[in-house]
Order: sequence, then C-alpha cells, then structure tokens
Amino acid sequence: MERRAYAPFREAVEKGQTSALAEVNACLSAIENNKNLNAFLSVYAEEAKIAAKSADERFANGNARALEGLILSVKDVIAYKDHPLQASSKILNGYISPFHATVLQRLVEAGAIVIGRVSCDEFAMGSSNQSSAFGPVKNPVNPDLVPGGSSGGSAASVAAGTCHASLGSDTGGSVRQPAAFCGLVGLKPSYSRLSRYGLIAYASSFDCIGILANTIEDTALILELCAGEDELDATSSSAPTMAYSRIPKLDQALKVAVIRDTIAHEGIQKEIVEATEATIELLKSQGHTVTLVDFPLLDYILPVYYILTTAEASSNLSRFDGVRYGYRSSANASLHDLYSKSRSEGFGPEVKRRILLGTFVLSASYYDAYYTQAQKVRRLVRDKTLEILGEHDCILTPTTPTTAFELNKSFSNPVESYLADLFTVQASVAGLPAISIPVGNDHQGLPIGLQLVTGNMEEGKLLQIAQAFMQLQQVQV
Ligand code: GLN
Repeated sequence: MERRAYAPFREAVEKGQTSALAEVNACLSAIENNKNLNAFLSVYAEEAKIAAKSADERFANGNARALEGLILSVKDVIAYKDHPLQASSKILNGYISPFHATVLQRLVEAGAIVIGRVSCDEFAMGSSNQSSAFGPVKNPVNPDLVPGGSSGGSAASVAAGTCHASLGSDTGGSVRQPAAFCGLVGLKPSYSRLSRYGLIAYASSFDCIGILANTIEDTALILELCAGEDELDATSSSAPTMAYSRIPKLDQALKVAVIRDTIAHEGIQKEIVEATEATIELLKSQGHTVTLVDFPLLDYILPVYYILTTAEASSNLSRFDGVRYGYRSSANASLHDLYSKSRSEGFGPEVKRRILLGTFVLSASYYDAYYTQAQKVRRLVRDKTLEILGEHDCILTPTTPTTAFELNKSFSNPVESYLADLFTVQASVAGLPAISIPVGNDHQGLPIGLQLVTGNMEEGKLLQIAQAFMQLQQVQV
C-alpha cells in the first residue's frame, strides 16, 4: 500500500513529473481499492478533480499557494460548508453544514483539496472507531484489527494512501492513538492553538483539532497554515504562531523526562516497553540526557478525564433534541416524547453511557464530590506536568499500552477500553501539545508509537524534537 506525503509530491509537480489531477485520481483509485476499510463516509470525487485542475493551472502560472494540491480527508466532526456532517451518529442524519470550520477554511484557502469525509467513533467518543453509526473502520496494516479511534477513519485514510493528510480531533488521544496504531505522525496541538469553530463539541475544555500525516514536515506545514487566533472562537489563543515548517534542525543536547510508571506499568505490552527503552538508549548514545521521573498523579488522570469530559459532553449534547438538527423520531405524541424518543433512537450506547455519567457527576448531590474535585485534580496534573517540563525539554512515553487490537474484541467492561487512553490523556488534561511518532513494529508487524509532550504553545520545539527522533531512528515513510 503506497503512502503519500505532500512534500515529495510537491517537488515532483514542480519538476513537471506529475500533476495535482494525477494525484487526485491516484487517491480516488486508492479509495476505491480500499473500500473494505470503511473509512470514507463521503467521497467528493468531482469537486476534488475540479480543484485539482485549478491547482494545476496555478502550478503552471507560478502562483501556487502554500498547500496547493494537498489532498486532505476530514473527520466527520469538522464542518465543511455545504457538505454532510454528522459525527458518525444517526442523530445528525441528513445534516448539511452551512459553514466552514475555520481551520478547514484556512487550509482550503491555502490550496488544500478535500477528498472526502471520514468516519470516527460516534461524537469522537471511543478508541477503536467501532462506535460509528456507519460500522467499524479497519486498520490498513491488518484489516482484522481496529485502526484506533476516535479519528480511526482519518488514520486509515492516510495509512492507505488515499490522501496526504487528515484533519482529526483529539480530546483525550483521538489523533495520537490512531496514528500510533497505523504507523503515522499524529499531532495534538496545545489547547486553543487551533480554532474550534466548526468542530462538533465533545468536551469543550479539552477538544483540539489535530493533524494526521506521514511526516513531520507535512504536519508542520499544515499546522503553520491553520494555527492562530480566530475571532469566531473566543477561546482561541492570540499567542503568536511560527513558521513551523522552517524550524531549524535540533542542534543541542536534550533533557528528556520519562515517566517511570509508563514503562514499568504491568499492563503494557512488552515490545512497547522494549521499543521505548531502545529509544532511550539511542538518545543517551547521542549525548542526550534521559531521566526517569515519578508522576504520582498518574492513577488519577483517567478518572479526572472521564469525569470532566462526560460532564461537558452531557451539556454539549443536550442541543441534539430532534427539533433543530438531524434525526427526529416519528413517535412524537408529546414534546417530551419527541425529545426523549429522538435522543433514545438517535444516540448509540457509548454516547448514552457518557451522557448519563456526565449528568450524574453534575447532579446537585454529587457535583462537589466528583466534578469540583476533578477540576482541582486537573489543576494539580497540569502544575505537576509543567513542573517536569520546567526542568526538561520534553516528556517521553509510549503512546499506547498495546498495539492495535482485534475488531470486536470484547472488553469485559468499558473501563478496560478506557485504559487505552492511559498515556494520552495527561497532555489533554494539562492542555499541552503532544505528538505520536512511529518507532517500529511488534512481532506481528504492527506499528508502535512514541509520544512526546512539550510546554504550552511549544509546538515549534515539539516538532523540532520529533523530527530529530525520527531521523535518529531513520523511520521512513
Ligand atoms: N478515547 C478517548 C475517549 O473515548 C479519547 C477520545 C477523543 O480524544 N476524542 O474519550
């Protein structure tokens, strides 16, 4: 399966060796040949061809834009004007977005071509893309396995060579974990670095749009073109952005912190521990300092994450009432009936579970015991993480405790599947930028991901370090 990075494509177009139209056609064939993966919910073939023709004109006229001809798939939680949008949920059946998400608009204005809408876990809740109302997505590396989630369609579409990159969303790991499962680069920027306008909300104080791509180079360029303040999202940061694609090579010795329990934890697959340890040895041999640090709050991060995100989700998802958007139950004898039947029939079981949990932790008698308490622990997690980052350049952990698992694997309870988020939620709870990069394979040939975290708004440094790591291991696309 041939993967496609943007930078080499761009170089080839500029040398006259290929064209945007040829690339779009190749992507469309790859979509056709990989239908079994069930990644795409919509394919915008004709529009993409028209956009490719105009990209080719721009290349010919010498006025190609920064992302001219970049072929992008978009997770079904990011608004693309006049196209369907439904968070892979029945409750948004038939909904067409009347506006663009700011991030997507910026990329399209820079020349990106949207090839299609890709599946995800329903409302981005999940780690395996099995909760989509459109059926599970399969992992291109091995179609018996999950691609990860919730941005599973995004990861599968990039790994199957159907596009150069994908926009996903990451609330607790949904870009990084599928990137790890499919052998890709997955970036979750700092909270508020990218506008959330036009991103369907799951948990608003955690949600970030993120990027899945084959290389750091492509990731940096895409980030550069979409980062920055947006007047349509009051929480978007006004901190200056950088020319992320032109960050110089790392030329200093790094101080790297490894959280001890993330490699000592008994639930972690042995080969993941070994791959992480091998990286640590490699770093040391190159003159970098690697320190094992303790993070006593590790056991609290998942509970904090699930209390706060379900609380926020229960509020965010209250707008889907069968009146304003999408699905409406036909059994609507009274207004109350209309609300409750539309929601009961429209939402899937995982979303319902989370709405119930969130409503519970926000209820008057439990609010202080759960919600307020979790907010306090969130602050502690952030403070402690920043303290480590005050003394180190980055934190390194495995991205996931296991490599991709089988479709339909039955978890004895939801908590077991929530454990898949063990390492990714820390950066989400702390609001910090994090990236997953591929570091080799397990004995079945399944990709292993390594996660790096840096300080707030330090995407430049994160990408610089990630690039150095990739080169160190000579991981190639
Ligand atoms: N797997 C996590 C969850 O289910 C993360 C989801 C996400 O980042 N959107 O909440």
